[in-house]
Amino acid sequence: MKQFWAVRFGQKLSKKYLKMGRAICPDCRAYFSIAHLKTSADAKMVKAQITKAQRIIRGEHVDDKFEKHLNVYKIAENRK
Ligand SMILES: [Zn+2]
Repeated sequence: MKQFWAVRFGQKLSKKYLKMGRAICPDCRAYFSIAHLKTSADAKMVKAQITKAQRIIRGEHVDDKFEKHLNVYKIAENRK
């Protein structure tokens, strides 16, 4: 199974992963790298994953108990 992650800037990334793009929280400007396993890196998926990651991250600000973003988010494989 392919796995894709949004990893907060400053977090160490295993050498097994490649940074493929950058997602930025529209609300607090936190930066995340979109990371793909080298063995299943797919640049075609990155644009949609940035959109998805930003939607997840931004959605957290709606929660009253929200304090800060996680360091890592899992992004599900895109489905049509
Ligand atoms: Zn934010």
